[in-house]
Parts: sequence; structure tokens; C-alpha cells
Amino acid sequence: MSKEYDLVILGGGTGGYVAAIRAAQLGLTTAIVEKSKLGGTCLHSGCIPSKAMLKSAEVFRVTQQQADEFGVKTGEVSLDFSQVQKRKHKIVNQLHAGIEGLMKKGKIDVYHGTGRILGASIFSPMPGTISVEMDNGDENEILILKNLIIATGSKPRTLPGLVIDEIDVMTSDGALVMNALPSSMTIIGAGVIGIEWASMLNDFGVKVTVLDRLDQPLPTEDRDVAISMQKALEKRGVTFILGAEIHTESLQKTDSVTISYTVDGVEQSITSEKLLVSVGRSAVIDDIGLANTEIQVENGFIQTNQTYQTKDDHIYAIGDVIGGLQLAHVAEHEGIYAVEHIAGMKREPIDYNLVPRCVYSFPETAAVGLTEQQAVDKGYEVKIGKFPFQANGKALVNGHTDGFVKIITDQQTDDILGVHMMGAHVTDLISEAGLAMVLNAIPWEVSSMIHPHPTLSEAFGEAALAVEGLAIHV
Ligand code: FAD
Repeated sequence: MSKEYDLVILGGGTGGYVAAIRAAQLGLTTAIVEKSKLGGTCLHSGCIPSKAMLKSAEVFRVTQQQADEFGVKTGEVSLDFSQVQKRKHKIVNQLHAGIEGLMKKGKIDVYHGTGRILGASIFSPMPGTISVEMDNGDENEILILKNLIIATGSKPRTLPGLVIDEIDVMTSDGALVMNALPSSMTIIGAGVIGIEWASMLNDFGVKVTVLDRLDQPLPTEDRDVAISMQKALEKRGVTFILGAEIHTESLQKTDSVTISYTVDGVEQSITSEKLLVSVGRSAVIDDIGLANTEIQVENGFIQTNQTYQTKDDHIYAIGDVIGGLQLAHVAEHEGIYAVEHIAGMKREPIDYNLVPRCVYSFPETAAVGLTEQQAVDKGYEVKIGKFPFQANGKALVNGHTDGFVKIITDQQTDDILGVHMMGAHVTDLISEAGLAMVLNAIPWEVSSMIHPHPTLSEAFGEAALAVEGLAIHV
């Protein structure tokens, strides 16, 4: 069977399904092809399930370690990990049903199957027609289209020679579906996913060691934040082994997993019950038919221009498959942008410097804009305002005073170059900083916005005052 559409989207993850909704709003006849479940990585094996588990970990930590401090007597506290998983599933299922409902509401056709791009053929003189191998075994559907968006996302990477079985040696995909917690876990990779898992497993009572070849965790974040995060996790019992060259060929699996590494020329090994590999994600581009197109791939990612068009300019690509900031909100906005471009709308390109970056560990981190080092490297003379949560009433009330807000400005113009936060709930505070940067506000304008008392947001106002040495509560 064949059918014609204004737009077909290959991949129904965050980028894909949001693009489809925008396309429906703009009156385009739209179809999505999804080989697994609508919602993609973020909903099924990323953002949402990991945050659901982090929340359970937080409740366990607070009940076990802090309830007394709040005057709450709890008796013996224990963890029912199957209930942690059940709660996670319930949240995921609810959101999944919501997306399916949104597809129906937008009259978006959803093809459950694996899509492949065809070259020029009897269906169209241009490449891009999609052949769908249907999950239900029906004969292939042929989708003839005016425009295609590739949103096939990403999958976990491993290190050369390190074989993943998702049971003893796992990626975040395997870790999210564990039936039981291990007694100990070695995590290779101290990026965002590694740090979130280190924090979560530590809260659940698992002994955690984090190995990384670099000398700081969260390498893309401000060094102040990264080092403070390392110290905060170390204080809770997480071990960091940094600057480690990992010998993947040394991996031994028995009842436990042993791997060796070299630090400062000294070879050592570490044994734990399980090993988690979190070393980044690669694009899903195999077997989607790119060879039938002019689309270019560099370093494993599809190349596009600023409007997300590939070399075949009626074929767009968005989200994790094009690399860059692999974040759900980025995929979403790239999808909306591509659809609006297809519909002939004109917009400024997305400014990736203004995309908030969050880590949902305890404490959390959140950032927007340049790090201090990046600002210096770009030749700015920087002026910095910093305010600690220790001096914030709401942080004290909440019982979480670790962390700070740091604002980096340009001494010449007062422009805000970057904002970096560490502390409980900072992922909910960063949007104000993002808005300030989008609106080109200077610190004085931020501090003259009256922040309600007592809130954590006052720390942002105070950090803005601190840029001029005028903070009130330090
Ligand atoms: P995906 O969500 O990967 O979707 C791609 C879809 O395409 C999938 O559903 C796949 O089945 C489908 N597909 C692929 N090939 C085909 C084909 N040939 N035919 C049909 N369908 C196909 N981001 C955040 O912003 N915040 C977070 O807190 C966060 N936490 C994360 C935690 C973890 C553990 C992980 C792994 C990721 C996290 N991310 C987070 C990243 C986020 O999940 C991704 O950036 C986001 O999912 C990218 O969306 P996408 O639409 O580009 O791709």
C-alpha cells in the first residue's frame, strides 16, 4: 500500500513526536514511523525513567538519613526495589498513553514498524520515500512525501573491546531495568549519565566507584561546579578514580566484574558486582537507507545546515541523530524549527549557547551559557558574582544547603555570559537565568526583579548583586 503525505517523520522520540504535533498545528498531513514506542529514548530509557528512579532514591535517602532532623520518627526504613520499578513504569505508561492521545488529536498517522529511506524510484523522482516494514507482519507500507524529517535518535556507546551484556556489564538501558540492586557498581564515565547513576545508586545504598580518563567529572561544565559535585558525592561515599586509562581487554566476569586501569603510570584493578558503561551515545543511522541519498555523515552524525536540512534539502534531520547537545528539549526545539521551516516560516537559528543543561543528581547542577574557562578562552575579561545556598533561608528550611549560584559577566558590557548552579532544585531555577540571557538582561536588571521570600530563587538575585559586590546576605 502507498500513501502520500506533506511530511513523514522517521522516529517517534521527543524530537519526532513534537515535530509531528507542530506539523499538524500548521495543517500539514503528517505521518510518524516508529519501530519501538512513541516517546523514544527520553520517555522509555532516558529522562523520565531515570528521574523517576532518582526521586525514589531521594525519598529513601531523606527518610533514612534526614527524617529525624525534621522531627519525623520512621522506625526501620527499607527499600522495595520492585515498587521503585513499578512506580517508574506507571509514570512512563501514563506519559506514553498521553502521547498516543496527542497523535490521535492531531490526526497524525502512526506507522508501527521500521522505516527505511528509498532512493529515486517509481514512487518519486527524489530520494526520501519511506518503506515501512510493519511490526504486525502486514505487507510493507510505502509513504510518499514532500518532506522527510529523520529523528532516529541515538543509542549507548561502549569502549572498544568492552562487550555489553546488559546484565553484568551494562549501559543505562540495562541499568534502568535491573530487577535488583547490586551491592557494588563501577561506573565508567563521569559525564551526566554517570553522575546521575552514581548519585542514585549511592542513595540506594550501593557502593559506587566512578572511573574516568579525564581529571574532572562533568567535563563540559564549569570547573567550580564539577569539582564541587565531586566533593559532594565523595562526602556521601562515592569514590572517584580520575585520569584513569581503562584496559577494556582486562575485563573479567565471574560472580563479579573486574577491570584494570592505569593512573599515573601505576596499574590497578577494581572489582564490583556490576559495571555500568556511560561513555556517550552514537547516532542511529545504520540501515535507515542513507546510502540512497546525498546525506552526509561526519563523526557518525548526520550533517545539516542551520535550518536542519541535509544535502537533500527536502530531507531534514533533528535531535540526537545530528549530535551536538543530545538533550530532549533540544530535539524538541529542532523539530519545531524544521517543521516551521518546511511551512515557510522564517525564524532566527537556535542559539545553542542559550540551552540550559541540567544534571538531576543530588545535589543537582544546572547551567546556561559559557563556563568561566570558555569565557576567558574567548578573550572576555570576566566579572563573577557567587552566592552560596548556605546563606539562603529556603535552602536551610529545606535542609539542603550545599551549593551555590555563579554568574559570569563581561566586565566591559555587563552582559551575562554564563550562569552555573549547584544545589537541590537548581534544575528548576535555571530557566530564570536562561530567560535573563535570552532577553539580554544585565545583573542589575536581574537583581531589581523582586524575588519572593523565602525561595531558592533569591540566590539568583543575590548572585546578580554579588557581581557588583552588593549581595545582602553574605
Ligand atoms: P530518541 O528519543 O532516541 O528517539 C528516536 C526514535 O526513533 C526511537 O523511538 C527509535 O525507536 C526510533 N527509530 C530509530 N530508527 C528507526 C527506524 N528505522 N524506523 C522507525 N523508528 C526508528 N535529555 C534531557 O533533556 N534531560 C534528561 O534528563 C535526560 N536524561 C537522559 C537519561 C538517560 C539515561 C539517557 C540515555 C538520555 C537522557 N537524555 C536526557 C537525552 C534524551 O533522552 C535524548 O536527547 C532525546 O531522547 C533525543 O530525542 P530524539 O527524538 O532525537 O531521539
